[in-house]
Amino acid sequence: MNFYVMTLFPDMVLNGLRTSITGRAMERGILNIEAINIRDYTLDRHLHVDDAPYGGGAGMVMQPEPIWRAYEALRERIGRKPRVLYMTPQGQVFRQEIARQLSGEEDLVFLCGHYEGVDERVLEMIVTDYLSIGDYVLTGGELPAMVMIDCISRLVPGVLNNQDSAEIESFHDNLLEYPQYTRPETFMGRRVPEVLLSGHHANIDMWRRQQSLRRTAERRPDLLTGANLTAEDRAFLKTCCLDQTEKKSL
Ligand code: SAM
Repeated sequence: MNFYVMTLFPDMVLNGLRTSITGRAMERGILNIEAINIRDYTLDRHLHVDDAPYGGGAGMVMQPEPIWRAYEALRERIGRKPRVLYMTPQGQVFRQEIARQLSGEEDLVFLCGHYEGVDERVLEMIVTDYLSIGDYVLTGGELPAMVMIDCISRLVPGVLNNQDSAEIESFHDNLLEYPQYTRPETFMGRRVPEVLLSGHHANIDMWRRQQSLRRTAERRPDLLTGANLTAEDRAFLKTCCLDQTEKKSL
């Protein structure tokens, strides 16, 4: 899968993504992650890429021309119009389901704004999706692009050693993951739950399912309405951890 990040800070993006799991996947050729320096496409002799906003106001706005030229060069190189995701606090909030849909694309372009943002005209011309990582404002789109690339990459076959780990994690089927334990069996007086040491796989699966339901009800009850619950799951939730109003909605 190919990720192209249009940015004024290519080192920030590549230094972050060249480490750990995404870095290994790049080395193995499963992921191709390129940072495209928007400044390389300016025609300004002082290499400026931003200017004051028309109408006045604070800060600087990224100019349309370098972004358009960078996009056109990429479009010609890959031979088709790619999906272009603009990182913006004004976009739809990124979720696991959006990551799953995007992981099916061959090419994704991430446009990172900086300063006060990007001239609206070039956004209208090239952007296909407006995406945010949450209701807060950052200084630039680089961290949001890295968050999304990291998340989407985990869903690309071959990136994780064991593909199961992406399938049973939090948000799979709208539930949070059960608690995890490793050695030692006892840590500062706290023992690993006995069922996990029993070797009884059916009991372990049932315990994990119930922990997953309990944790979701306690921490993110809003997710439960979209979860695929069996009659047994609903019965467990009613006895374990929901208040009266939540029980009625099940
Ligand atoms: N003036 C803009 C506004 O009020 O919508 C905010 C500009 S912000 C300081 C600079 C850049 O950071 C944006 O163009 C965008 O690319 C990125 N950015 C900031 N917060 C973000 C968020 N929550 N999600 C995605 N991108 C964000």
